[in-house]
Amino acid sequence: EACTPPSEGLGEAILKTHPCFNKEAKGEYARVHLPVAPLCNIQCNYCKRGFDCVNESRPGVTSEVLSPEQALAYTIRLKEKMPHLSVVGIAGPGDPFANPIQTMTTLRLIRKEFPEMVLCLSTNGLNVLPYIEELKELNVSHVTVTLNGTESETLSKIYKWVRFEKRGYFGKQGAEILLKNQMEAIRALKGVGFIVKVNTIVVPGINDDKVGEIAAAMKEMGVDVMNTIPLYPVEGTPFAEVEEPSSAFMKEVRKEVRKHLPPMTHCSRCRADAVGLLGQDDPEAKRILSEVSCL
Ligand code: SF4
Ligand code: SF4
Repeated sequence: EACTPPSEGLGEAILKTHPCFNKEAKGEYARVHLPVAPLCNIQCNYCKRGFDCVNESRPGVTSEVLSPEQALAYTIRLKEKMPHLSVVGIAGPGDPFANPIQTMTTLRLIRKEFPEMVLCLSTNGLNVLPYIEELKELNVSHVTVTLNGTESETLSKIYKWVRFEKRGYFGKQGAEILLKNQMEAIRALKGVGFIVKVNTIVVPGINDDKVGEIAAAMKEMGVDVMNTIPLYPVEGTPFAEVEEPSSAFMKEVRKEVRKHLPPMTHCSRCRADAVGLLGQDDPEAKRILSEVSCL
């Protein structure tokens, strides 16, 4: 299957104004994550319920969860206050496609109100496939998939369970379903020209020696950029005692990625309700978020 170059079919502006995909946009354009997706359809061994999804965010206190209508009201107020808001994303606090009604309704409402807004999603990839066509119609441009390995053997050590089409799967069986769906989703997303980022959580002793393999496989599939995130050991999870990879180690990991794909070097591990310029959350915006959540 032919790979689509990242810019094909997409306006220049779309590529330039996403602060996560273009380092130069970091100090200039703001993004907001709309916390409309509370549930998750898998259990990662590094995640504790009540925390934001660590695939795209730093563990922290639970965010407010907004309805799609509240999310629209929030975005309208933010845009008035922050004209440089260029990206609206959905990244949890669970998975967008474990909450597909909320996610798709929110995207439709935002697209109707803001035809120019860059729309972006971050998912574990288990259940995105059925929605790709509509995401394309809505002109969502950027999708991040968290992929922690390319072998079910590795993945079975990272995921406790996977819930797919109303059934629960454990161990290798769960890992196989997840991996198959992730691969199909990435192929399909690239097939219709999405900009795709892969996030990999680097877990010492489990996948820390497999990052090069993952990057090579993702390059084959036309993925645009890869973001490696060091495991953040959270108390009460199976990985609580695993040592967090050092920044020197992560530097080496990124070198390995660079052999195949551009690594993302400025990810701020934002929360599911992050808002403002990258790395500089906006307190006034947080106040608007809590006001809107009471509407
Ligand atoms: Fe937690 Fe995110 Fe993993 Fe779901 S996908 S279990 S919310 S880290
Ligand atoms: Fe961008 Fe990383 Fe923040 Fe996501 S978590 S909005 S990719 S900087």
